[in-house]
Amino acid sequence: MLTNDQLDKWDRESFFHPSTHLAQHARGESPTRIITGGNGVFIEDRDGNKLLDAFAGLYCVNVGYGRTEIAEAIAEQAKELAYYHAYVGHGTEASITLAHMVLERAPAHMSKVYFGLSGSDANETNVKLIWYYNNILGRPEKKKIISRWRGYHGSGLMTGSLTGLELFHKKFDLPLAQVIHTEAPYYFRRPKAEMSEAEFTAHCVAELEALIAREGADTIAAFIGEPILGTGGIVPPPAGYWPAIQAVLDKHDILLVADEVVTGFGRLGTMFGSDHYGMKPDLITIAKGLTSAYAPLSGSIVGEKMWKVLEQGTDENGPIGHGWTYSAHPIGAAAGVANLRLIDKLGLVANAGSVGKYLNDAMRDAIGDHAHVGDVRGEGMLCAIEFVKDRNARTFFDPADKIGAKLAGAMVERGVIARAMPQGDILGFAPPLCLTEAEADQIVATTAEAVKSVLG
Ligand code: PMP
Repeated sequence: MLTNDQLDKWDRESFFHPSTHLAQHARGESPTRIITGGNGVFIEDRDGNKLLDAFAGLYCVNVGYGRTEIAEAIAEQAKELAYYHAYVGHGTEASITLAHMVLERAPAHMSKVYFGLSGSDANETNVKLIWYYNNILGRPEKKKIISRWRGYHGSGLMTGSLTGLELFHKKFDLPLAQVIHTEAPYYFRRPKAEMSEAEFTAHCVAELEALIAREGADTIAAFIGEPILGTGGIVPPPAGYWPAIQAVLDKHDILLVADEVVTGFGRLGTMFGSDHYGMKPDLITIAKGLTSAYAPLSGSIVGEKMWKVLEQGTDENGPIGHGWTYSAHPIGAAAGVANLRLIDKLGLVANAGSVGKYLNDAMRDAIGDHAHVGDVRGEGMLCAIEFVKDRNARTFFDPADKIGAKLAGAMVERGVIARAMPQGDILGFAPPLCLTEAEADQIVATTAEAVKSVLG
């Protein structure tokens, strides 16, 4: 067993951490956190601290930690057949079963599932399928993708472009030219305080219409959005948003991609966020909750309308020129099958709805009136608190004050992991879907203490 000092040394010498301040970390100014175990909603670090993980890793460990059913399914698959590819019609019992199970749960008009490894690569797949689709239909100009500011869709070249957060563009020469952004449906940060939710929805729709008119509908292939903005601040859409957006897209023959990497498989208290908000997507992106992160696996669920054209494309051009070595990896697929069965067995979709509401209500009761709390919002097992300098004027703290990061730090010190969301002083909560009311109480009590310690 390596000593802590040895691990710290190797970490700083060798390990390029994602989404990390590289220089500070190398200088030893930020801690190396080594996580050693987990059970239910709790994880343990090497120093023996037991932490309630109120962000489920990166909102992905939906069934909670330490589920032996999934671990055993992975081990059995690895022993029987760790790998075979899925090219030219190959498959395994696990990958075929999982595709069937996903479609059983997906909205009725969805037709097939392509499996990848991460949310990012699934969205790369989606964009390629959209371009292929329009090429087969003889519309080579119809290629631009509309995303929203504050949307999160990955950090590849295309998906980092779709992501509407400055940090993911700056110094990377992104976004790529084919990506255009429109207004975030962020009611709390609406342009005029007196706007009602319905007026703000109409404003977002008008912004989208104006963008389409400016660019030309015949140049726009698709619109991508998370049912509820996740990494951009955990922001539920204003009332009537999705049906109104959907109507605009239908009018201009623009495809809809519902990025359900966070919301898929129960987080909002429904199996998919598309059902929750009345979206009718042509493609659905899935990842995280598909395996609860017990193994890397993602997917693109393709709707009937696109599937027919993709088939036609291969009749004209030969096999589809798209695939990863690890597409539908048997170990990921086995984890997915065991995970979806467990979600059903434990009733976790319903639990996400009921305990999620309990968490949101309790959070609002505990700190909703605090002088520096501007907004407490959420849906299902997602909750966020947005902190402000002045509640009435809706003014924000100087980002240099790092209020969000300080609050997240104060929470960890008290045994609960929440996430300081990028771009704003926003504390995010996305616990495992198996959270109990008693655990929700612990999250809320700890948040109230942390807020008091940082903001008085
Ligand atoms: N889409 C959404 C909505 C996400 O939240 C994320 C990851 N947080 C991604 C895509 C990208 O997934 P990955 O990090 O697995 O590439």
